Amino acid sequence: MKNHSSFLRKYTVALTVLVLVLIFTFTSCQAKTTELEKFLNRIEIQYEQISIELGTAYWNFYSGEGDADLVTPKNKYYTLLINDTLNNYIDTWYPKRSEISDTILRRRIEVWHNTLLSAKVEYNAEVMKLRNELEEMLKVTDENNNKTDNFSGKMLLLIQLRNKKAQELGFENYVHLSFENNGLGYKWFTSFVENLDKATLEPYKALVEKAKTEKQITQFDQRSAFQFVGMFYANNTPPEPEKRNIDLVKESLANIGIDYTNLPSKLVEKQLPEGVGGQGIMLNIPYDFRAVMTLGMDISVWMHEMGHGLHGLYNSINSPILEGYEWIPGNSTPAFSEGMAETSAGFTQNTEWLKKYTSLTEEDIQNREEIINTYAPAFIRYHLSNFMKEMELYLNPDKSYEEIQKDVARKYMLIETDDIRTQELKNIIYVSYPLYLQNYLIADIIAGQVHQAMEEKFGTDYAFNKETGNYLQQFYKGGEYFTWQQRMVNGTGKELDVNAYLKRYNIK
Ligand SMILES: [Zn+2]
Repeated sequence: MKNHSSFLRKYTVALTVLVLVLIFTFTSCQAKTTELEKFLNRIEIQYEQISIELGTAYWNFYSGEGDADLVTPKNKYYTLLINDTLNNYIDTWYPKRSEISDTILRRRIEVWHNTLLSAKVEYNAEVMKLRNELEEMLKVTDENNNKTDNFSGKMLLLIQLRNKKAQELGFENYVHLSFENNGLGYKWFTSFVENLDKATLEPYKALVEKAKTEKQITQFDQRSAFQFVGMFYANNTPPEPEKRNIDLVKESLANIGIDYTNLPSKLVEKQLPEGVGGQGIMLNIPYDFRAVMTLGMDISVWMHEMGHGLHGLYNSINSPILEGYEWIPGNSTPAFSEGMAETSAGFTQNTEWLKKYTSLTEEDIQNREEIINTYAPAFIRYHLSNFMKEMELYLNPDKSYEEIQKDVARKYMLIETDDIRTQELKNIIYVSYPLYLQNYLIADIIAGQVHQAMEEKFGTDYAFNKETGNYLQQFYKGGEYFTWQQRMVNGTGKELDVNAYLKRYNIK
């Protein structure tokens, strides 16, 4: 008995000590996180202020509405992002973030971690200087007297520099760092590319053989490949509707219960740098969206840019870093942002929408769908070749861009002739949005999946259901608080479903 009671006493003392230690640890952890939170709140106010300044400068850069001073806000970002206290906080808390019970604070640390990592490359003084110089060369000016001498040489230098900085940070090269940070993951991405390559190869080969027979040619050429892709786009783009683009944007939104006139949004038309169809910018999330479309763009481009607007304007998360400004690659998930833009553009491919706003009949629409399915393997492989040719520049720095383009054309488009037309390296997207192009293919998959979910929820008339807009808002409101995979699951019940995508085009 005695022994027993002594044991019990010792046990009680031990237990009390343990509880005290736990309470102490908990309160001290809480005190530290409160301090962290206060610090981040302060930094994020500054971060947002600079983001707004840079967004305004980029707006001027594309729209030509005012003087585009990209350098001053970028320098301010630089000063903010190399702040030792900020970096120390994030370096300390990121590995033990699972201890933080406040899930918003935990997510802020994750997104800050990604943002700081990519800033170490993109906002490195050397990279920034070169990038500024290249952007200046491509700026839209009234005089159109941009000096673009040796653009390619400087672009190659920028690629080398990005690789070098990534290696200094412990990555194999810039591709690995970038995919670590863009929400996709390099491993996921390579298997995604392999999967699509494999699934589309046989149907694409069949198209190639058919074209060769019909044209009586022995070697498949680039012109024929472009014709395939052209057929896809011609049938996937709505014929010119009667209404003006801006009015049709307003009406399409009104149809799903979104009142455009209440949105702080502005859409304009102006000549843009080569290769850019439209540029939508959230200057201030969620209060100020503007987009500029280059001349002669069809309604799907307008709806795409408006989709970027909806994504930002319905963001209601109360933390600037989770609002997802696009100016530092690690801060947002561009594949998902493009997915939201394409979801909006997707209304212009909807059967009921086409019947109402274009001259197409039900039968025309069905015929178009058949053609789209026929040429979808070419469309997918065209996308693969398009982003792989940029990626190869980083993965194989010893290969010339010309050589890369030819190899990629042979591998993905199955070009058999030696006569392969190549392009110059001069591309604003390579400068300002490195390794971005895969997002457009992923966007097509996301949009298809969301439209499928809307049809299941609201029926075939969902493009004219006032509840549809409400449904879409769930994708927008949390910003970067949820990962993009979580957002897909929350909205459509599953993560990105590539097999369903292939089935939609009758590929699998
Ligand atoms: Zn876009």
